[in-house]
Amino acid sequence: MTRRYSFPFNGNRYIGNTNTNEVHDLDNEKSNCKINEMKTNHVKTFSPDTHYQAKSEGFDNCYWCIGNSKY
Ligand SMILES: [Zn+2]
Repeated sequence: MTRRYSFPFNGNRYIGNTNTNEVHDLDNEKSNCKINEMKTNHVKTFSPDTHYQAKSEGFDNCYWCIGNSKY
């Protein structure tokens, strides 16, 4: 699995799912992340594209690709 360079991912490493409120690391993506099943309107990118920014916006870690999930 790898980064996606098309809309709405635009090559970003960290992708938030606004439906589950989880952030994924596409450089460590697992099939359980179900990135390909995300709806376009649930995809959130971050500026800057960092894990810190995602956390500061209230996203929880994905259990599979980042770990240390709160839930
Ligand atoms: Zn994930």
